[in-house]
Amino acid sequence: MNIVLMGAPGSGKGTQANRLSALLRIPHISTGEMLRSEISLGTPLALQVQKYVDLGEYVPDDLITGLALTRLDEPDALKGFILDGFPRTVPQAISLDTVLEAQHRQIDAAIDITAPTEVLMSRLLGREASERRVDDVPAVIRTRLEVYKRLTHPVLAYYRQQGKLAEIDGTQSVAAVSKQIDTALSLLRSTSS
Ligand code: AMP
Repeated sequence: MNIVLMGAPGSGKGTQANRLSALLRIPHISTGEMLRSEISLGTPLALQVQKYVDLGEYVPDDLITGLALTRLDEPDALKGFILDGFPRTVPQAISLDTVLEAQHRQIDAAIDITAPTEVLMSRLLGREASERRVDDVPAVIRTRLEVYKRLTHPVLAYYRQQGKLAEIDGTQSVAAVSKQIDTALSLLRSTSS
């Protein structure tokens, strides 16, 4: 299955992506992780993207789309994948669909894990020091949440229109969220052609 995991920062999508990756034996592809790795290695791409990541702004579509699509061409992703943090804008979603379609592949399901802003803020601020990221500071968190609302909410509408979106209440326990996602995935799998 080719799955897109959506959800604002702090929604728990990273946890669910890891779980689904192990369960379905398909790679978890996080564009945020890929960017952080480029930055820590100091690659040429790092110079172009670091300022956006540090400020909580989105990296330009062409840069992130190139990175994500190259990863999806690797052999392990041909039997399925879980995308975490991509696509985040409608142009990214359209590029993804166009490229997959040309390869006779498609997105089968988009899962949106929802939670109110106050819950997201307190989860991100409450991250243990060991898992806290440089962009987990109040001003940057606020930007990340605002940018998500402005640019990523339209992506939810894009997948809803295609009948591929499942919305899950992310304020429940991890076990309850997991169960609802698994149910939604089996339903979407049975309806996807
Ligand atoms: P994440 O780990 O998914 O929260 O991503 C961390 C940061 O990487 C984001 O705040 C953005 O600056 C950048 N980023 C990751 N994925 C994308 C994307 N699909 N489009 C634009 N920027 C992205």
